[in-house]
Amino acid sequence: MKLSLIIPCYNEQDNIFPFFEATANAFKELPKTIKSLEMIFINDGSQDLTSQKLKELYSSYPSVVSIVEFSRNFGKEAAMLAGLRHATGDFVTIIDADLQQRPEIVVEMVKHLLDNEDCDMVAAYQEKRNEGKFISFMKKCFYKCINMTSETEFFQGASDFRTFRKRVADAILSLPEYYRFSKGIFSWIGFNTYYMPYTAEERHSGESKWSFFKFFKYALDGIIAFTTLPLKVATVSGFVIFLASIAYMIFVILKRIILGVDVPGYATIVVLILFLGGLQLLLLGVVGEYIARTYIQGKNRPVYIEKEVLKAKKISYDEQDN
Ligand code: UDP
Ligand code: MG
Repeated sequence: MKLSLIIPCYNEQDNIFPFFEATANAFKELPKTIKSLEMIFINDGSQDLTSQKLKELYSSYPSVVSIVEFSRNFGKEAAMLAGLRHATGDFVTIIDADLQQRPEIVVEMVKHLLDNEDCDMVAAYQEKRNEGKFISFMKKCFYKCINMTSETEFFQGASDFRTFRKRVADAILSLPEYYRFSKGIFSWIGFNTYYMPYTAEERHSGESKWSFFKFFKYALDGIIAFTTLPLKVATVSGFVIFLASIAYMIFVILKRIILGVDVPGYATIVVLILFLGGLQLLLLGVVGEYIARTYIQGKNRPVYIEKEVLKAKKISYDEQDN
C-alpha cells in the first residue's frame, strides 16, 4: 500500500528539512503494509528560499519527494487541492510543513485506518487551543451559526490534518467549486470519520499566516459556500418590513382622513428613510456576495496555476535508505 503526504508550504524555508527529518524518523514506525511513500510539497508562491530548499530535498530524495510550484500565492485551500490531484496513494494525509502537527500522529492515523476497515477518514482535532479569548469566542459563534443553518455538520476544532482513503480523495476532487472551504467539503462528502484528539505544537520556525482579517474572510467564505441562510434572512426581513410599511401606510392615511392635514412628522420620515435605505443596501450586499461568487465560478478559472512540477522518480521505497 502507498501513503501520500500533501504538504502545503508558504514561506517555510527553515521548516522543510526539519519536517522531512522528523517525518522520516517517525515513519520508521509505520506498519509494514505501507510499502511506499510519496511526499508532495506544494510551494504556494513562497517569497523566501522555500523553492531552493525543496529542490535540494528533491535532489537528495528523488524517490519520495515531489514538488508542485505555484506561479503565485493561491492559498492553502488551492495547495491542498493541487496535492490531492497529484496524490496516487491508497492513503492520503494532509499535514502542515511547520511541525505543529507531529508526523507521529500520522502513524497513529494510518494504524487506525488499517485496523478499522469501515473507517474512511481520521481527522485530528484540537481539544484545547492556545489562542486569544476573542478569536476563540468568534470561532464558537461561527460553528454555532453554520451548524444551525447548514445541512452538513461541522465538527468544532477539526482541522485539515487528516488521513483518508483514496475514495475520500476522489470524492473531494469531484467537487468542482472555486471557493473551496475544506472544513465544509470534508463534512459534505460524508464517509465514516474518526476524530482523533491531538495537541498542536509550537511552530518550528517562521510565523502563522493567519490574521484576524483572513479568519473573517475565511469564515465568510464558509458561510456563503455552505448555507444560503443570509439570503433567506434577506427575504424574510424584507417581507416583515414590507408588511410593517403597509400597516404604517394605512395608519397614516386613516390619520389624514380622520384628523386632517398634519405638517409635523419630519422625524418619522427621516428615521424611516434611513432605516429602509440602510437595510436595502445591506441586503443588496448579501445578495451581491452570492452573485459575485456565482460570477467567479461561472468564469471557470482554475483554482491555481502550476509553474513547475517535479515528480518523484519511481524507485521502490525499500531501496531508499531512510
Ligand atoms: N500555507 C499555504 N498557503 C498560504 C498560507 C499557508 O500553503 O497562503 C501553508 C503553510 O505553509 C503551512 C500551512 O499552510 O504549512 C498552515 O499555515 P499556518 O501555519 O500559517 O496556519 P496555522 O497553523 O497558524 O493555522
Ligand atoms: Mg501552523
